Amino acid sequence: MVVGVLVEIQNKRVDKIFDYLVPDDLKNSIKVGFRVVVPFGRMELDGFIVTIYDNYSNKDTLKSIIEIIDSEIVLNDELLLLGKEMQKITLSPLISCYQVMLPKALKAKHGKKMSIKYDIFYRLNPDKDIVVSSSSQQKIVEMLKEKEKIIRKDLLEISSSSLNTLLKNEIIIEEKMEHYRLNYSNYNFIKKELTSEQQKVVDEVIANDSNNYLLYGVTGSGKTEVYMEIIDFYLREGKTCIVLVPEISLTPQMIQRFSERFGDMIAAIHSGLSDGEKYDEWRRIVRGEASIVIGARSAIFAPLKNIGVIIMDEEHSESYKQSDSNPRYHARDIAFLRAKTHHCSIIFGSATPSLESMARALKGVYKLLELPHRVNGKSLPHVDIIDMNIASKKMKGYFSFELKNAVDKCLSRNEQVILLLNRRGYSSFITCKNCGYTFKCPNCDISLTYHKSSNTLRCHYCGYGEKVYDQCPKCSEPSLNKLGVGTQKIEEELQNIFPNSKILRMDYDTTSRKGMHEKMIEDFKNHQYDILLGTQMVAKGLDFSNVTLVGVINADTTLNIPDFRSSENTFSLLSQVAGRSGRSNKEGKVIIQTFNPDHYAIYYSSKYDYLSFYKKEMNIRKQLKYPPYFYLSIIRINGKDSNIVYQESLKIKRSLERNLDHVIILGPSVASIFRVNNIYRYQILLKYKNEEEIYFIIEKIINHYKNQSKVNVDVDFNPLQLL
Ligand code: ADP
Ligand code: ZN
Repeated sequence: MVVGVLVEIQNKRVDKIFDYLVPDDLKNSIKVGFRVVVPFGRMELDGFIVTIYDNYSNKDTLKSIIEIIDSEIVLNDELLLLGKEMQKITLSPLISCYQVMLPKALKAKHGKKMSIKYDIFYRLNPDKDIVVSSSSQQKIVEMLKEKEKIIRKDLLEISSSSLNTLLKNEIIIEEKMEHYRLNYSNYNFIKKELTSEQQKVVDEVIANDSNNYLLYGVTGSGKTEVYMEIIDFYLREGKTCIVLVPEISLTPQMIQRFSERFGDMIAAIHSGLSDGEKYDEWRRIVRGEASIVIGARSAIFAPLKNIGVIIMDEEHSESYKQSDSNPRYHARDIAFLRAKTHHCSIIFGSATPSLESMARALKGVYKLLELPHRVNGKSLPHVDIIDMNIASKKMKGYFSFELKNAVDKCLSRNEQVILLLNRRGYSSFITCKNCGYTFKCPNCDISLTYHKSSNTLRCHYCGYGEKVYDQCPKCSEPSLNKLGVGTQKIEEELQNIFPNSKILRMDYDTTSRKGMHEKMIEDFKNHQYDILLGTQMVAKGLDFSNVTLVGVINADTTLNIPDFRSSENTFSLLSQVAGRSGRSNKEGKVIIQTFNPDHYAIYYSSKYDYLSFYKKEMNIRKQLKYPPYFYLSIIRINGKDSNIVYQESLKIKRSLERNLDHVIILGPSVASIFRVNNIYRYQILLKYKNEEEIYFIIEKIINHYKNQSKVNVDVDFNPLQLL
């Protein structure tokens, strides 16, 4: 027997199928989709079996596979096919497409296989007469007569020696059962009576089996409730469902809502899980024990069968695109592929749909569904914009008089506050006050970021780190300025202004320990804290009924990022965070501090006027030839020798110019960070109307460079950032 194996080689575009013999003793257990260990040159590598050959001539020269890694199929037929389609649309190595589908535990180097946990139970042996010789043995037997099987630890409490004797005499028998690390036993099938607006949406969706919908519903309009009702319908039809949410809003609250309604039918996959927990969840899905998968981007690959609906909540979120490594896929495109296979519907939901999606909906490519009102019947909270050009002249710290005043009032009514520190694009650098020295990464052209908790400087690109000393390395003066605008610093100021309030700080530092995120949300919900201060984490998905004030300390950071989507991202962030206020029966309020009070993204978000924002932004995109009017692609050319990289980039550009007519070709230009990990990076940007025209040229270029070691050429179709 001969099989074709796709081997995993790090950092290489080998991407070829190699053939191996299967030794006789493994023949019966081998299947397509298993992982195996194979000899490769002098190495042993992992790989996926992608074919089993019926007839094979010339077997003699083949090597044999060494061992089979799995006992269950890792990639089923659908996923094997999906990988190939993904390879085509992203032009990335096939092996990377398969790797991205699997949980980390299944990607681990061979030898380090993930453990499966078991519980041990005992039951009476029906074939044996009961003979006991002590009172504790008697007790154990009585217990087992009453309850068919009992877990080991409960019986150990009676007497471990009696337990052993009974086992030795075969009066009781042992049974091992797999123990999943997570459980969702706490459910009660809570279901809310839907409003007529919600019901209408549900009815529309379930009336059709395969359709694409854009659900445009304001924050607090009950989208999640609608999703659950639709899922309920498909479960009754015997189908399964995928719910994608951005990692940042995959909060314990969200999982709790789903698990309260659907119990252990859900499998939730998120970064808060250990590798073991993810592995367990994944196996529950494979075995058909979970019918609803909730997770971030990669959950789109959940090995479910018979999918009834795919839901993409907060569909505008950038986290749905894998931007930093191959395969550079968008979960939306994978959803289309899977929906085609399963003949199922897709629902894209958002309070601030991406321009692309709204444009499609208005053209009728997606069916537009709307939830224009909040479930609580109240209007969206009033937004005050504070012009910091004026206000900042009268203030010392980060809080305007108006914001302080509003917090004060809110606290005096015993209500709660959420404060957003918009940190994206911002880093805490260290500079020397005396000579202006800044710390740079020795491998990358970028400043190091200061981490207060460990007192270190770190590079966020290559992982380089160094300790910080008080003296400047250049001028030797003890004058290093470590104060970035961190949440920590604002927390200190806030505590000074409101000494009696309890403040909860939520950022990457305070939530990195396992379980902390959950605990914080629970504590805030139980009003153990008055103010929740945090980064983007506090902006999305949270639902606290007692929060009546949301404050944005600095609205401008996202706006200042030099990217064509910065207005869109700012609009949606502000709309999202504003939506955390006044979600229940109390009136809410929002205060936004900004140096750009007249900017349309800020102005329209304060009026919740999505459609005006949409029109204005579409106009700008049209003028500047950006999506959704034009497609974009970036070709990235990287290598160790900057001169060679540049020369090859020029060649690529010329070849593009020769072959393409109606395409705008920009570059080659240096990437926003020219050098990362001692690799130099150039890029060429393409703007075009016709996707097919460029696809074949780019494919040719990538294939041409596939086996060259001097430069590495990748493409990112429809990139979300140009940086
Ligand atoms: P969205 O996802 O659109 O922001 P949610 O689904 O989180 O909205 O709903 C907002 C709040 O309203 C939640 O607390 C939710 O439990 C509640 N809610 C949603 N639908 C209903 C309903 N039909 N009846 C009562 N409460 C509802
Ligand atoms: Zn670095």
